[in-house]
Amino acid sequence: MDAFEVLAEETRADVLRALAAHQRDHPGDPALSFSDLRERAGVADSGNFNYHLGKFDGRFVQQAGDGYALTPRGVRLAALAVAGFEDPAVGDPAPVGSDCPACGEPLSVSYDEGMVAVACGSDHVFPRSFMQPPGADRDPDDLARVASLLGRQTAERVAAGVCPVCDGCVDVAPSTLDTELVPLTYTGTCTDCGTPVGVPPEFVAPTVPAVVAFWYERGVDAPQ
Ligand SMILES: [Zn+2]
Ligand SMILES: [Zn+2]
Repeated sequence: MDAFEVLAEETRADVLRALAAHQRDHPGDPALSFSDLRERAGVADSGNFNYHLGKFDGRFVQQAGDGYALTPRGVRLAALAVAGFEDPAVGDPAPVGSDCPACGEPLSVSYDEGMVAVACGSDHVFPRSFMQPPGADRDPDDLARVASLLGRQTAERVAAGVCPVCDGCVDVAPSTLDTELVPLTYTGTCTDCGTPVGVPPEFVAPTVPAVVAFWYERGVDAPQ
């Protein structure tokens, strides 16, 4: 059973939510008994509930001692289900107290349709990153700090050939962009989930032999 089939049935989604809530409140004892879990999932008939537990087939929910707990894969799926996909009301772009390195205008941070972005009034947009709605529930400076962190993490993963969405494989190749801020970038597509990715050259250059050789010939260490 894949993740879509699990979440297609409300009872099974409720089981994940109940186990995630219990794990949050009791991190040292994340398992729930059959009857407690059935009650919290709102199912009266134990035979019917047993049927749904069996559908997990140990992949998202597993037996733990006398009860049931999330597997690592189940934790990830439950986090998605709990986070939801509703955008929080974050309002207009908020100033973050620093200036655009390209034009000197004040920078602001915004969150829209699951993406967090830092930009100036002249549309110099720095890398946008996907962020779950709970991550956007921060003050503007903190949101900008997390946006920067996510951008660096994404760039490092892509430069290392790891898809930032599914952990699959990506190959990137240089391509030019028609913007003054980022004239050159490396872009590619995940061979597993198909997500298009882009990464600034400073993250990729140290892994490209020709670039490292260019610096070496001039007696300069490639940036790490
Ligand atoms: Zn700017
Ligand atoms: Zn992927």
